[in-house]
Amino acid sequence: MTKAAKTRSVAIVGAGPVGALMAVYLANRGWNVHVYETRPDMRLPENKAKIQNRSINLALSTRGLTALKGTGLALDELIMKSGLPMRGRMLHIGNEGHLVSQDYGVHGECINSVDRAKLNEDLITAAEELNNVKVTFNHALKRADLDKGTLTLENKETKEVVDAHADLIIGCDGAYSSVRNSLMRYVRLDFGQEYIPHGYCELSIPAKVGADGKPEFAMDPEHLHIWPRHKFMMIALPNPDKSFTVTLFMPFANFEMIHNEGDLLNFFEQYFADAIKLMGKDLLIKEYFKNPKGSLVMVRANPYHYKDRCIILGDAAHSMVPFYGQGMNCGFEDVRILDSLLSEFNVKSTKEGESDNSLALALEAYTDRRTKDLKAICELALYNYTEMRHGVTSPVYLMRKKVESWLHLLVPSRVIPLYTMVSFSNRPYSEAYARHHKQGFWLSVAGAAVGLGTAAGLLVAGWKQRRQLKDAAGLLKAAFLTAAQSAQKLVQ
Ligand SMILES: Cc1cc2nc3c(=O)[nH]c(=O)nc-3n(C[C@H](O)[C@H](O)[C@H](O)COP(=O)(O)OP(=O)(O)OC[C@H]3O[C@@H](n4cnc5c(N)ncnc54)[C@H](O)[C@@H]3O)c2cc1C
Repeated sequence: MTKAAKTRSVAIVGAGPVGALMAVYLANRGWNVHVYETRPDMRLPENKAKIQNRSINLALSTRGLTALKGTGLALDELIMKSGLPMRGRMLHIGNEGHLVSQDYGVHGECINSVDRAKLNEDLITAAEELNNVKVTFNHALKRADLDKGTLTLENKETKEVVDAHADLIIGCDGAYSSVRNSLMRYVRLDFGQEYIPHGYCELSIPAKVGADGKPEFAMDPEHLHIWPRHKFMMIALPNPDKSFTVTLFMPFANFEMIHNEGDLLNFFEQYFADAIKLMGKDLLIKEYFKNPKGSLVMVRANPYHYKDRCIILGDAAHSMVPFYGQGMNCGFEDVRILDSLLSEFNVKSTKEGESDNSLALALEAYTDRRTKDLKAICELALYNYTEMRHGVTSPVYLMRKKVESWLHLLVPSRVIPLYTMVSFSNRPYSEAYARHHKQGFWLSVAGAAVGLGTAAGLLVAGWKQRRQLKDAAGLLKAAFLTAAQSAQKLVQ
């Protein structure tokens, strides 16, 4: 280090999953890292009871795992010690919950159910174990002077207001980011926030008691369970204690129609009869009325940075609806990509006077390269809601999926299902999106051909009994619909 050089300091606001991972990456690079978190330390038993009284899980997939692995500390293995692989969707069709399994990938690829709180705690511990990371809890950022690198924070316990200083301020403070609010005063930041009409409520399916008296899963744990009901849906992910965390997504207007226990049970009897048996009426009633009804917000902001002074990552930059299971995975990818740009632009852990422009260039490149990918995944996440609650039950969709899987097996380099590109690869989201559209036309044509061929074969074979004719008619209808869609696309 020359005489004038000093170690770079960074203030990370927010010790959520993205902030904690960013702390590990920058500490690995030799920076002095200080993380400020408004909440108390979740790892202390007295706080755990206050802030986390139920198990909330997330789907962790390739992008998230790649970023965890990129720390060089085997954090992917640490997190996966308690992760549960899910190889497909299990659809609960109709009121009786007729089960249909749909694999996520043709080669047995899995997404993984992980406990959100445990993952966050493990990452904070991993960060704190590095001697150049300090985490200060109970401190909320109020505002930041980005030119001076000053943060004004409130101690949530004493209400004292304190100032801190850092060369770089990173906002990992979630959808309602205070860092983003400050950033807006320094750059012409395009910003949008939109609530979808749907909210969510967390419920659960407890473990059942097995023949040997030990707890057992009440449903297949290798699947993400979905009850698609067109306008709303319910999903369930497995937990290591053999319970499932269930999330009911539906318009707030529907939540507001459920006033009492009778309304709730009628609603569940009508739409989720098989789930009531698994949840138990008492637990369902208790959790439904106790647990909050969360809203789902989409946040769009651009640019993500200001000179070499500030950048926002994770939900602070791109909160998306949770239907592709990518919010956190994408936030982890933000961290990995920023880190790779710090290498590409040769940003050192020390800064030599004001002439060092490397960090400003790296942050600018981040905004340039990441914008189209973040836009793409936010759109895909919204699109997937329609697919999960409605599309998965349509014959056209099912036929298209089958054809797509066959073609992927036959010509893996030519046809790759969208879900595979998004969840099981690190391919840029925008590239996955563009490729999906390109493949779409030929898939529709192939789907129509297969559908027509199958339906014609069935008819010619003279399957004339009522039930079989009904199936054939269904297939024909699907084939014609697909053909019509293809023709429409061709005209466009
Ligand atoms: C119902 C639901 C299901 C989801 N499922 C998935 C899934 O399956 N897979 C997936 O990848 N993603 C999923 N997500 C999205 C995922 O939860 C988020 O994308 C992820 O938590 C974002 O991490 P983050 O660190 O950017 O923000 P957050 O998790 O919001 O963390 C921000 C942190 O900043 C702190 N903070 C806020 N303001 C301040 C301040 N002023 N000063 C100091 N600290 C502050 C907060 O206390 C918090 O600890 C889901 C989201 C929801 C709502």
